[in-house]
Amino acid sequence: MSALADRLAAVRAAIAETAAAAGRSPDELTTVVVTKFQPASLVAELAELGVRDIGENRHQEAQAKAAELAGLGLRWHFVGQLQSKKARQALAYASVIHSVDRPGLVDALRSDAASVDCFVQVNLTDDPGRGGVAPNELDALVERVLATSGLRLLGLMAVAPLGEPARPAFARMREYSERIRRIAPEARGLSMGMSHDYHDAISEGATHLRIGTAITGNRPVAG
Ligand SMILES: *Cc1c(COP(=O)(O)O)cnc(C)c1O
Repeated sequence: MSALADRLAAVRAAIAETAAAAGRSPDELTTVVVTKFQPASLVAELAELGVRDIGENRHQEAQAKAAELAGLGLRWHFVGQLQSKKARQALAYASVIHSVDRPGLVDALRSDAASVDCFVQVNLTDDPGRGGVAPNELDALVERVLATSGLRLLGLMAVAPLGEPARPAFARMREYSERIRRIAPEARGLSMGMSHDYHDAISEGATHLRIGTAITGNRPVAG
């Protein structure tokens, strides 16, 4: 087996084990392999190993890889900050947008022709630059998504804050998820958990893990 196959198998086994310990079925979990900065050839290798869900955080890079690898049956997840003026282009390749975080982006994603799955990203820090809607503006943004044609809300997404334990932050996400389900009962998804904190995320109810380096190995340095 290749090193990539080894790491993929190890992470899959660890996910299954943590899910079992939390009394959850691994079938409830979608693992999105985040391949930002990695070459398209690595994504093709992942596809051969049975990976279907690929995550990218920069529009131009995602667009290019999706075009190059069209035909492999991959589902592209956009997980980074998305400029409103690029929203329509992202809709051309993305199956899921994890980072809906402001009213202007919701409006830019509106479509009467097609539908895209999305998560509303919550900012768990006090730094507005980190992406995500502030928790006190969350309900209003969820309502706007629900009122917008072409968007199907899967749930909430977050990145754990730096410099504090991830688990309590993910526990807050679970509470926000319960809160928004009063207005969006179908939106049960929780996109959270990366290479270093996916165990905590699974324990707190994550449905979509976004795992990069634990599977891909270190990212090449940006050129
Ligand atoms: C890069 C990235 C990930 C994956 O991070 P790793 O630490 O490599 O697992 C997950 N989510 C987002 C939003 C990212 O940008």
